[in-house]
Amino acid sequence: MEDKTFTVELTCLFCDSVLQGDTEAEYVSGDMIKCQDCHELNDFDALIDVASEKGKKAVSDHVLNEVEASLKNMFK
Ligand SMILES: [Zn+2]
Repeated sequence: MEDKTFTVELTCLFCDSVLQGDTEAEYVSGDMIKCQDCHELNDFDALIDVASEKGKKAVSDHVLNEVEASLKNMFK
């Protein structure tokens, strides 16, 4: 089984721009991440909720593509 990883960007809850977090910093539950565009503070827990929803979507889309590809191979 191939190991697949999915990266999901964290986007600002207020203006939807991609948050440029400090890559050196480790964010933990309860932290606030400041948006560089609108300067609103994003709640880390809320961001993770949104990101995990997006992540699930990305995974299921990928699985769907794999299934379609294998079906096509079957009927070649
Ligand atoms: Zn923003």
